[in-house]
Amino acid sequence: MKKNLIFILILIALAGLISYFLIIPKNGNQPSPLKSITAENSNNSLTPQNPLSQKTTSAFSEPISNALARITKKPFGLKVSPGSSPVSPEKFFGYHTGVDFETAPAEQNLEVAIYAICPGSLVLKKYASGYGGVAVQQCQINGDDVTIIYGHLKLSSINGELNEILKAGQLIGILGQGYSPETGGERKHLHLGIRLGKQINLLGYVQKLADLNQWLDVSNLLKQ
Ligand SMILES: [Zn+2]
Repeated sequence: MKKNLIFILILIALAGLISYFLIIPKNGNQPSPLKSITAENSNNSLTPQNPLSQKTTSAFSEPISNALARITKKPFGLKVSPGSSPVSPEKFFGYHTGVDFETAPAEQNLEVAIYAICPGSLVLKKYASGYGGVAVQQCQINGDDVTIIYGHLKLSSINGELNEILKAGQLIGILGQGYSPETGGERKHLHLGIRLGKQINLLGYVQKLADLNQWLDVSNLLKQ
């Protein structure tokens, strides 16, 4: 019996030794997952530099607060007609050359500020049929000349003299009162169009899909 007891004790001791050398070293391997976590952390600390550098290199500003969330009715390129449109009544036909930024019910009697999206000179401010007050700015996007149309502004609020350079983010004016001459009779919203080149063209819609090639979608620039 004593021999059996000693044998069992030796077995227990052996098991203890084995577990010491097998299990403890396994626990001792824990630093490697920790190392991988710290390695991930160090990678994470590097990755934010890319979005940050993108933001600092982007020269674009929002034309209106919370801009992307306001594109709820007429995005770029939408085909509308009086019989088929997200707004009613609709008086236009064709493909939307710009992007419409909507206002909330609570903003109808508030001043809603509109800002230059890029640095460039103010080349036109006038009353135009369908727009009410409209401001036009010339900028460069990726080295290309573009013309920016800000439509449905209160004409008297348009900031700056002709040929004055507006900075990105600088106030251009405020939106016109909805369903009044200030907006060309339209609801209170910003129509923003970007056309390639320096030629001023205020078309809000084109009749051929191919003609949209002359226009850029501002929402793509804002998502950068
Ligand atoms: Zn529009």
